Amino acid sequence: MARGSLLIRGGTVIDPASDFWGKRDVYICGNTFADPADGEKADAEEIIEADGCLVMPGLIDNHTHCFYGGSELGFIPDPSLLPMGVTAAVDQGSAGIANCDSFMQMVVNHSQVRVFCNLHVSPTGLITERYPENVDPQNYSLERLKELFQQYAGRIVGLKVRQGQEMVGEFGLAPLRAAVNLAGELGCRVTVHTANPPCDVAELLSLLRPGDVFCHCYHGRGSTILDQQGKVRKEVRKARENGVLFDTADARIHHSYPVIQAALADGFFPDIISTDVTRASLFGDMVFGLPAIMTKYLSLGLSLPNVVKACTAAPAELIGMSGKLGTLAPGAFADVAIFQLTNTPFLFKNRLGETFLGDQLLIPKMTILNGKIMFRQIDFSCHR
Ligand SMILES: [Zn+2]
Repeated sequence: MARGSLLIRGGTVIDPASDFWGKRDVYICGNTFADPADGEKADAEEIIEADGCLVMPGLIDNHTHCFYGGSELGFIPDPSLLPMGVTAAVDQGSAGIANCDSFMQMVVNHSQVRVFCNLHVSPTGLITERYPENVDPQNYSLERLKELFQQYAGRIVGLKVRQGQEMVGEFGLAPLRAAVNLAGELGCRVTVHTANPPCDVAELLSLLRPGDVFCHCYHGRGSTILDQQGKVRKEVRKARENGVLFDTADARIHHSYPVIQAALADGFFPDIISTDVTRASLFGDMVFGLPAIMTKYLSLGLSLPNVVKACTAAPAELIGMSGKLGTLAPGAFADVAIFQLTNTPFLFKNRLGETFLGDQLLIPKMTILNGKIMFRQIDFSCHR
């Protein structure tokens, strides 16, 4: 019997990074996936019966706010995300250069969930929603950012900037311009909040480079990705052709069902599906968590492999962890999410007063992180 070995059998495996969707076993040895001979598999220390379930890589929520203790928006990652099948999360700008150290010490170092971060260009990050952050580019510091990117290499993966009219005011697109310049110096991506922009969306997109992320892509306030006829604008398609990535980051107010439905009908699918979950929206009926947002997009007509890819392989690439996270391939870290897909109706709401009745739900059954079972629904089978 191989010590620390674990066999998940009987489930339907979805691993978009390996282009796989079908029945197969998943075998874990220590903290990575392995592909041993059949005899060895039968000898696994622990066997998980996943009949009737979907077995996928541990989910990566590319847009969260989890600076608990340092931001009013922040929740504690482990008890909030592990029961949702989320094993890695990216915090989007809760911290900036002024409070990055405390984010690392209080949250990142004390979480089992693999927490990555995009540092806000504004020094204090997003410590409250009661008033907007100070976006004046005069306060940004390339020198300090460089130090922090070095000190926390692998954990800080990019920059965040918010380009809503309510934050930028008279600064217009200056914060984004400055952020893109800094990112050029640092060699990283910029993720830009685009809801209610101070300009035409085409102008904003023209500043983004290949690999930058346009988040809240289906928002419905101000200039959106749609034209007057409800078709996806040619500048938006052009940006995608140039390598700009589109992330849903739905939140409570940063998505609009008519926009989502028109964009999907026009064949414009998201590259990344994420929540923008905060302490206020966690477990609520507008966001709840990543499995709920995933089933929302399934109910809206996206295919299962597309949805899973947008929450595994695609964000893994963004954080520089392709082949290590977001896949079940041998050699990758053994993070797994097991779900049952049920035909349960769920009424989604948002802060625009819109509703959408989903017809499916992904019910989390088990979460494995680094080869260890971190969450198990009490009715889910496993024997040791
Ligand atoms: Zn956010």
